[in-house]
Amino acid sequence: RAKETGKARCIVYSARQSGPPEHDISLEAAMFGAVREGEFLLYYQPIVDTRTRQIQGFETLMRWKHPTLGMVPPVRFIPIAETNGLINLLGAWALKAACVQLKQFQEAAKRQLYISVNISPRQFRNDKFLDVLDDALAFSGLGGDQLVLEITEGTLMVDPVHAEAILTRMAERRARIAIDDFGTGYSSLAYLKRFPISVLKVDRAFIKDLPDAPKDGAICNAVLDLAKHLGLSVVAEGVETEDQLRYLDERGCQYVQGYLTGKPMPAHVAMAALTEDMYTALLPTDLRAGT
Ligand code: C2E
Ligand code: MG
Ligand code: MG
Ligand code: MG
Repeated sequence: RAKETGKARCIVYSARQSGPPEHDISLEAAMFGAVREGEFLLYYQPIVDTRTRQIQGFETLMRWKHPTLGMVPPVRFIPIAETNGLINLLGAWALKAACVQLKQFQEAAKRQLYISVNISPRQFRNDKFLDVLDDALAFSGLGGDQLVLEITEGTLMVDPVHAEAILTRMAERRARIAIDDFGTGYSSLAYLKRFPISVLKVDRAFIKDLPDAPKDGAICNAVLDLAKHLGLSVVAEGVETEDQLRYLDERGCQYVQGYLTGKPMPAHVAMAALTEDMYTALLPTDLRAGT
């Protein structure tokens, strides 16, 4: 038995150290049925303006609502989907669904927002990726400028020539590119010059110990400075405390995303948050919370 399952073990452990391998093998087996059963869903986490805390957009985060295991987090199933190729199907669905959902968010909020969607390395390399992107935009009627695609440094570095071609195509559609988990991958800063990138998402690793960690503070400052001079925007990921938010605000970080300003939430809750946001915006300034 060990011999038969050796391959899957290797995959699971190289991707993430999580849970016993037997468990993940059954996850993999269940995954195909789960797609058919519609067990995958999208959560939405607000990305807010640091100063006003107004929602600017949402990142879509995939969840798997397993009938007996409950919510399976993406660190458990994305690496498996990446290995068996299911990520192409799941990712295409997520992109389309996210675009459709953003349309509804915008109608409710009566203003322009954006949707930020994670694209895995395998999806990015897939021949059909641009078709998938065009289909999502055409089907939803969303403008490319309301879409941000999050890729990691690793995704760019595997095949920079191919990456450059794809990113140029995305730019033609006015879709913006964000570097996710910025600062944690293997890459050179030269890619910031070479590729049409718009957003840096500073990884939570550099945020979580602020404001008391001088080295993390120095890295955040350097990234903010770099972004400013390159004309990029910065989103700080994983902001959990008011102290962190204040620290980032004082250093000119324009956008934050984290449990402090909103956890990942189902669409109907995000809708409520947006509507509340709209009512708050209509209040006279002296009645608004925090002023
Ligand atoms: P990511 O893209 O870097 O997403 C941010 C992760 O940080 C999310 O974890 C989010 O729930 C979590 N997070 C946000 N704010 C806070 C905070 O204040 N504190 C803490 N401790 N965590 C926070 P999640 O949802 O478990 O997703 C993990 C990763 O799975 C994502 O990292 C992304 O790489 C991947 N992923 C999620 N959804 C998708 C998807 O639809 N497609 C692909 N390809 N990957 C996805
Ligand atoms: Mg992301
Ligand atoms: Mg991230
Ligand atoms: Mg991250």
